[in-house]
Amino acid sequence: MSLDELEHAAAAKPDALHGLSDSLVFGEGDPDADLMLVGEAPGEEEDRSGRPFVGRAGQLLDRILDSVDIDRADVYITNMVKFRPPGNRAPTAEELSASLPILREQIRLVRPQIIATLGNVPTQWFLATKEGITKRRGRWHEWQGVRVFPLYHPAYLLRNPSRERGSPKWETWQDMQTLKAALVALDAKSGPLVIDTAEQSVLF
Ligand code: URA
Ligand code: URA
Repeated sequence: MSLDELEHAAAAKPDALHGLSDSLVFGEGDPDADLMLVGEAPGEEEDRSGRPFVGRAGQLLDRILDSVDIDRADVYITNMVKFRPPGNRAPTAEELSASLPILREQIRLVRPQIIATLGNVPTQWFLATKEGITKRRGRWHEWQGVRVFPLYHPAYLLRNPSRERGSPKWETWQDMQTLKAALVALDAKSGPLVIDTAEQSVLF
């Protein structure tokens, strides 16, 4: 099966997802990406456009990637849940499990070297933990042979805009340098390692 065929199959919503929007937000990016980003579920703008991470959180995500010279076109971006929950409520456990077959197949097709999970929902699933993102972010984990690197969700960073040392944005800036260095070490399509000091101020 190709990604296009999978997208077509994903548009047929299983019964367990009947409470969600009818518009599929499948995911997008390089089908051979070394880095896959996995968020929670589409929001309003994503629902309208059919693309992941295009609203305010998505625009911050673009700046975060840009801060370490990662081109959005070189990564693959998707969500755990492919349809918008009403009013952006959190997906239920049942909705998450009904969404997993498509996500698993996406991962199998893209074969990323690294999966970066954005926020609590994907992090808790990939790490099979109830521990929060604060405890797990910025360190390497593993899921079925793939390296997993949890990051704060950009929507959380929008609510916590401080760039002070020790703030979530500052921590994310450290984490992005770690992630970038790993991509460079993999000789991934990631551009040069441009960051020369962890003390440099936060760039997003
Ligand atoms: N938040 C998410 O988790 N995913 C999106 O696609 C947009 C916002
Ligand atoms: N809760 C989340 O889901 N994500 C964060 O990044 C922080 C709190």
